[in-house]
Amino acid sequence: MIEFDEVRSSILSAIDRLAPAELQSFEALGLVLAADVMSSGPIPPFANTAMDGYAVRAQNTAGAMADAPVRLRVVGELPAGHAPTIPVGDGEAIRIMTGAPMPDGADAIVTVERTERDGVDGVLVRQVAREGDHVRRAGGDVEPGELVFRAGTVLGPAHLGVLASIDVGRVQVFPRARVGVLSTGDELVESGALSPGKIRDANRPMLLALLERAGVEAVNLGIARDDEAVMTATLEDALARCDAVITSGGVSVGDYDYMSATLERIAADDPDERSRVNWYQVAIRPAKPLCFAVVRGRPVFGLPGNPVSSLVSFELFARPALLAMMGRTQCFRTEVTAHAEHAFARKPDGKLHLDRVRVRVEDGRYIVSSVGKQESNTLAATALADGLVLLPDGDGVSEGDDVRVMLLD
Ligand code: AMP
Ligand code: MG
Repeated sequence: MIEFDEVRSSILSAIDRLAPAELQSFEALGLVLAADVMSSGPIPPFANTAMDGYAVRAQNTAGAMADAPVRLRVVGELPAGHAPTIPVGDGEAIRIMTGAPMPDGADAIVTVERTERDGVDGVLVRQVAREGDHVRRAGGDVEPGELVFRAGTVLGPAHLGVLASIDVGRVQVFPRARVGVLSTGDELVESGALSPGKIRDANRPMLLALLERAGVEAVNLGIARDDEAVMTATLEDALARCDAVITSGGVSVGDYDYMSATLERIAADDPDERSRVNWYQVAIRPAKPLCFAVVRGRPVFGLPGNPVSSLVSFELFARPALLAMMGRTQCFRTEVTAHAEHAFARKPDGKLHLDRVRVRVEDGRYIVSSVGKQESNTLAATALADGLVLLPDGDGVSEGDDVRVMLLD
């Protein structure tokens, strides 16, 4: 058996980033910038008011108080989206709405709450305004020529908003990986009534969903029978149209576990000298068997068939590697220290156990409790989990002990 860290490092060292590509900015959520983004103009593009109120000359409000207001003459009204047509002169004010440009002559805004209309053309100002009050200057958010986002930035919703406001419609990013998902096993059917010995394929919808959550483009490759020729043909086809492939099943030591053999065969006629097939017995539970290959320049993750094992090995090995392909530098799930709500018993077996847990926060600390069933096929209990507690080899932990937990989505 090999330690989990060692297997993960070995996989990551075989992963290359995808070649950068230019994409429409609105398609780039979650992707990593491959080049710096500069702004060509200021944001906001012009000085404007942050509040509804009156545009004034600050000096005209000198001495204004709640019970001793200053009267200014209202010479116009300016909603957002309109250009000012007249300036604010001495003793004058323009009624102005949030986002409207500052009219010439005005240097401050008095908020509407500090004013009162006075006749048809007057306003009583009940507070002194200082120059610049409630004025958003041009370039206050982004200056022209500013380096707005560096290469390496992971684009989130706010980044997309900024790109739109500086009119950057296309960005250089590491593209979304296209990742195929293939289930293997003679026992698998898609849906409907079950004839004897058959079960429904749980791994494919789960893995497709895990990929989608990871921001990857998932490709459904269906079910392959336990037959080396069928698997070879399906995998060859997948390798031709995907950046990476994830299979489940067929990596144990059973008589019908053909995945490693299939990959060995594909690797054997791959002229690329970097192609490799590794068949691991990882010192973890669940998810001990794992096949990892690089064939035709593409990584293939042969995950074990038991659904819980499949999920855990996706989280530990496939997800970080796929994120690395997409240019991420922080690829691992967050790990925190938590308080064990009850004892987590286990037996020494040379493995790291990853029990599925529910995580909650109470009084500022994480608390974990088991989801219940911890077998490698009990996916219904695993579905309740939002964390994996890391139980090092030994006899487990007692109630109240500190434990490490990996937070899932
Ligand atoms: P294998 O890794 O192929 O030996 O499969 C291990 C166990 O996982 C067996 O009980 C399989 O029936 C089960 N299994 C394999 N693939 C799937 C799948 N896609 N969905 C649900 N169970 C599966
Ligand atoms: Mg099988």
